[in-house]
Amino acid sequence: MEAFRCSTCDGLVFFDNSLCLTCGSSLGYVRDERAVVTLTEFDDHVERADGVPGRFQWCANRLVARCNWLVTDDGSWVPGALCDSCRLTSVRPNDAETDALAAFADAEAAKRRLLFQLDTIGLPIVDRDTDPDNGLTFEFLSSRGRPVTTGHQGGVITLDLSESDDAHREFMRQQLGEPYRTVLGHLRHEIAHYYWPTLVERAGTIDEFRTVFGDEGASYEDALASHYGGDSTPAEWGETHVSQYATMHPWEDWAETFAHYLHIHGGLQTADSFGLHVDEPARSSGAGAWASASPVAIGPMIGTWLGYTFALNAMSRSIGQADLYPFVLSPTVVSKLDFVHRAIATAATRVNVA
Ligand SMILES: [Zn+2]
Ligand SMILES: [Zn+2]
Ligand SMILES: [Zn+2]
Repeated sequence: MEAFRCSTCDGLVFFDNSLCLTCGSSLGYVRDERAVVTLTEFDDHVERADGVPGRFQWCANRLVARCNWLVTDDGSWVPGALCDSCRLTSVRPNDAETDALAAFADAEAAKRRLLFQLDTIGLPIVDRDTDPDNGLTFEFLSSRGRPVTTGHQGGVITLDLSESDDAHREFMRQQLGEPYRTVLGHLRHEIAHYYWPTLVERAGTIDEFRTVFGDEGASYEDALASHYGGDSTPAEWGETHVSQYATMHPWEDWAETFAHYLHIHGGLQTADSFGLHVDEPARSSGAGAWASASPVAIGPMIGTWLGYTFALNAMSRSIGQADLYPFVLSPTVVSKLDFVHRAIATAATRVNVA
């Protein structure tokens, strides 16, 4: 994630801000420019305060989803229009479900962060209007009173909104031994399933995938039963997998590894944006490490990342907190991250050149 600046006062502003806390100016996110911009408000629209031409409206979910994304008002705008992110959600709680609406806002905030990252990388986001069978759409459902399973099926990403409840998620996190169980983590995992056909199957790398992750043709039902039966996680899972859940099936291994790659990519981009520099044990200066959109090996990126994590974990411990990055990346896991890295870079290059 990048840090942004208010064009009126030069104060630091963040991706989620709709107000500059230094000068009080309104802020909004322009997706085409991947930038938070400072705004001048008019009666019926907003414009950029820095004089760059452009007429915008607020997304209609500005209040209900705390959405700060702008909709271009080029004459085709209609009242109540949603931004590019909110339009991707096809199911949401109704206005009477107060608790669920708070969770819905949290889920939308995580989704905007995910979309920013996918745009940064250059991965294609094809909506349901464009591809009615496999286009991407999100269903944010409250599991109160009915079972909801977080997952992905044919472009539809379903999220159980109780996952944004801290107490529930912490209980599940401990039950399942998942240090990074977060709403953003869920979305990064599910989007991996969405991209699998594009990045692996249609990219012609299925043989290499099977060598690295195993045979995805193995019965998923059996794997699921065995995993939740509690007897299948190998004791030495950390040697081969990025998480315990990844041991369940090659598809889940792909999704967990892909999500982890996005964690690293996002962390490196943030470090770069803030100009973080770490001297020990290896010099980590983020300059561009996250942005290498060419199909090269992942080694330098991981080296840079580990430098930061040693420093950040030490920082966390020094203020009495648990490690910020409680992972050890074994050589096997790094080779899986490398496959994901090359698959993403190849797809992004293909899309950007096309
Ligand atoms: Zn300001
Ligand atoms: Zn929106
Ligand atoms: Zn999954």
